[in-house]
Amino acid sequence: MKQIILDKISFKLDRNQLFKKLHVDPDSDDGKQLTIMIQHAELIGKPKVLYTLSSINSLNDECVTVDSVKLSSRVMQVNFAEINRVFPYVVTCGRELYEWAGNIEDMLEQYWADIIMEQALTIALKYFHIHMQEEYRLGKFKAMNPGSLEDWPISQQRELFQILGNAREAIGVELTDSYLMLPVKSTSGILFQTESNYENCQLCPREDCSNRRAKYNTELYEEKYKILPHHSM
Ligand code: SF4
Repeated sequence: MKQIILDKISFKLDRNQLFKKLHVDPDSDDGKQLTIMIQHAELIGKPKVLYTLSSINSLNDECVTVDSVKLSSRVMQVNFAEINRVFPYVVTCGRELYEWAGNIEDMLEQYWADIIMEQALTIALKYFHIHMQEEYRLGKFKAMNPGSLEDWPISQQRELFQILGNAREAIGVELTDSYLMLPVKSTSGILFQTESNYENCQLCPREDCSNRRAKYNTELYEEKYKILPHHSM
């Protein structure tokens, strides 16, 4: 397992998008305060990425073994069937912004800080995807994330972090006993090369999700991922 850290991510917030999303007039008193917060966040913020270049050791109906760590997911077993390396990752808005936000007392400003951290995470994720394309010429790639499907539950964060090594030391992200990541504005998963149009959302029945990227396909699991009974001769 080779641990790779990306921590030189240029961090510039999209002011127009922030003012619009937060319904703040830039010329108002709130606007002036938000501008001060944006400037401060840009000064201290260091979004980061940690990923590993990992080998798939084995695949069977029950689990996929990546860098000697067993992951339980049937969907993963099918998705990883044709490849021999994957890229486990964690992307974060960074400890610097998280600690700054933790010291804000005003509730409205806390909410602004939350959206600023969310934007920092999006910037880091975009940077990561561009980096992966340039570094490994992956062509098409997708990601699986623990907890987004019943098939790969959130408790598998523990195994994912085991593959990643010491994420707290590397980029300041820690995993709590309830599998929540701190800083909260962090995301984790396994990126993999594929020619398919796989999206977690295709297998997720949740109705009220504003982040949905693909329609729920009620037949997909049966068609592609269902374990067929073994025939004995
Ligand atoms: S629909 Fe929403 S909750 Fe379900 S996998 Fe997609 S983003 Fe996640």
